[in-house]
Amino acid sequence: MKKRASAVNTSVREDIIMLDKAPNGKVSDLLNALDKALSAGDVERAVDLFQADCYWRDLVTFTWNIKTMEGRDQVREMLKARLADTKPSSWKIADGEEATETDGITESWIQFETDVARGFGHVRLKGGLIWTLLTTMSELKGYEEPLGFDRPMGAKHGAERNRKTWKEEREAEAAELGYSRQPYCVIVGGGQGGIALGARLRQLNVPTIIVEKNERPGDSWRKRYKSLCLHDPVWYDHLPYLPFPRNWPVFSPKDKIGDWLEMYTKVMELNYWGSSECKKATYDEKSREWTVVVERDGKEIVLKPKQLVLATGMSAKPNMPKFEGMDIFKGDQHHSSQHPGPDKYKGKKAVVIGSNNSAHDICAALWEAGADVTMVQRSSTHVVRSDSLMELGLAALYSEQAVQAGMTTAKADLIFASLPYKILPELQTPVYNAIRERDADFYKRLEKAGFLLDYGDDESGLFMKYLRRGSGYYIDVGASELVANGSIKLKSGVDVKKLTEHSVILTDGTELPADLVVYATGYGSMNGWAADLISREVADKVGKVWGLGSNTTKDPGPWEGEQRNMWKPTQQEGLWFHGGNLHQSRHYSQFLSLQLKARMEGIPTPVYGLQKVHHIN
Ligand SMILES: Cc1cc2nc3c(=O)[nH]c(=O)nc-3n(C[C@H](O)[C@H](O)[C@H](O)COP(=O)(O)OP(=O)(O)OC[C@H]3O[C@@H](n4cnc5c(N)ncnc54)[C@H](O)[C@@H]3O)c2cc1C
Repeated sequence: MKKRASAVNTSVREDIIMLDKAPNGKVSDLLNALDKALSAGDVERAVDLFQADCYWRDLVTFTWNIKTMEGRDQVREMLKARLADTKPSSWKIADGEEATETDGITESWIQFETDVARGFGHVRLKGGLIWTLLTTMSELKGYEEPLGFDRPMGAKHGAERNRKTWKEEREAEAAELGYSRQPYCVIVGGGQGGIALGARLRQLNVPTIIVEKNERPGDSWRKRYKSLCLHDPVWYDHLPYLPFPRNWPVFSPKDKIGDWLEMYTKVMELNYWGSSECKKATYDEKSREWTVVVERDGKEIVLKPKQLVLATGMSAKPNMPKFEGMDIFKGDQHHSSQHPGPDKYKGKKAVVIGSNNSAHDICAALWEAGADVTMVQRSSTHVVRSDSLMELGLAALYSEQAVQAGMTTAKADLIFASLPYKILPELQTPVYNAIRERDADFYKRLEKAGFLLDYGDDESGLFMKYLRRGSGYYIDVGASELVANGSIKLKSGVDVKKLTEHSVILTDGTELPADLVVYATGYGSMNGWAADLISREVADKVGKVWGLGSNTTKDPGPWEGEQRNMWKPTQQEGLWFHGGNLHQSRHYSQFLSLQLKARMEGIPTPVYGLQKVHHIN
């Protein structure tokens, strides 16, 4: 067997040596060779087209999963399991695209087909062989979205008795769905995650109800502390189908994004049940159907979908600490998610427990309102100035300069997706080293004020912290200056020991008089929602949500290679998790919606490499 592989390897390499040296020729020859090998079902020949240190990231096309194959052995194993079913073909440089070459890496957008879908992707070649390959599903054949030439007519020309208008049809659908007709899918949580997924499913004609306990779309943003503006810039935040207009502010104020979501929900014709709380969900393994109990405007309604998506927010299940004396404290105390804003705390003494984004935003707003504020920092935090992050971290893909240079949101998302998580830290570290150099004085001043800084366990910075643990950082939009100059008082390297009636006592014995205590102590794993709504058993069965298995703080190993449980099949049939920041929600809702659509249409979706559960929360 070994002998045969190396013989094939030589012949492939000969093919490649004879390649046209222009980037287009190199990529085309490689894709032709891949096409031939895959069409012939010759897994070894296909594997020989990959570098030894290769990565193949597949978003749903081959694996019906979100999965990265690392190295030739994993590529081989996946192809052996999935090639016959997938029947890939027509690999080529994507229409209208040109391959490029920089520093010995040739890269190109590519397109291909499978038996059931059309795919788009990206390839990087090193030494004529595949180093990274991204394959993503664009659409299911026969179930394309009605776009462009295929857009709906809207008007019905001609004459017809008792015809219904668009408005009447919408009203009839709203009256019927969930009552006399069951939705195929129920999304619990109508924040931007549920809304983006709902929009995609609508276009794919998957009957869906979004259940949201707040009254109006956008309320999950509206209800956050009043000073909040998005920390990510507009280019990163677009929703599917309907980008923000070109005059939209770089950093959306929270109420403005709330209004956009409300408008979006309406114009995208989503079946959005506001003031509706999901109380309970149970799955019947025999009928393969959920029973979802919803309280809508005070009335109990039972829904029977086949698929249940929890889009209940990864920053929505408050981690509320338990300290001795909380029950006797006489002032106001609440988790950051309940913080109403600073207005009534002018002249009062506020203690904010925590030192990440929310803590900084809340401290700064309280200081602006004239409160006496102390931040309590237990452990180190990664701080990045917003302008440095925008310029050095995001500008190449998500910025006005990128737009001017021809970068589209879809391409930016795919370039990002094409970078395997395994090597992402190596690619991110230089960015944060450059930021550290550029902002050296800023960091020095913060440390002088006693602030405990870190740059991630392996110095790879903010984005890796986000992907691994979704916490542990502050994108500085002004509060750090207040910490550095002492306007926001700081107690670092200590924890809360207890509360008294009027103060917070720290572990070093310090007593901080307090009228207000804000617990900016973060959020719990999303499978906590599964425990609340379904059962502890199902929550444990699906395991921890989020993180990569990087074996860094709050992201225990083993290495899993993709975000746990997000946007892909879980150990519980019919149960899905959706969410993340606006970028992830936009990008991954495409792949989750296609997985759901395929199931609804009865297209076989054998999942390759269903994740194993290593941690329960
Ligand atoms: C302070 C702060 C700042 C942030 N800044 C940014 C930023 O700049 N950019 C960014 O992209 N992200 C940011 N995030 C992350 C932010 O949480 C997400 O982007 C966004 O809110 C996630 O959307 P979501 O739909 O997944 O969750 P959420 O917006 O949290 O929505 C979840 C929804 O589920 C509903 N729900 C929960 N349980 C039930 C139930 N049983 N029945 C019915 N409904 C239920 C909730 O009411 C809620 O509306 C920030 C988060 C916080 C806390």
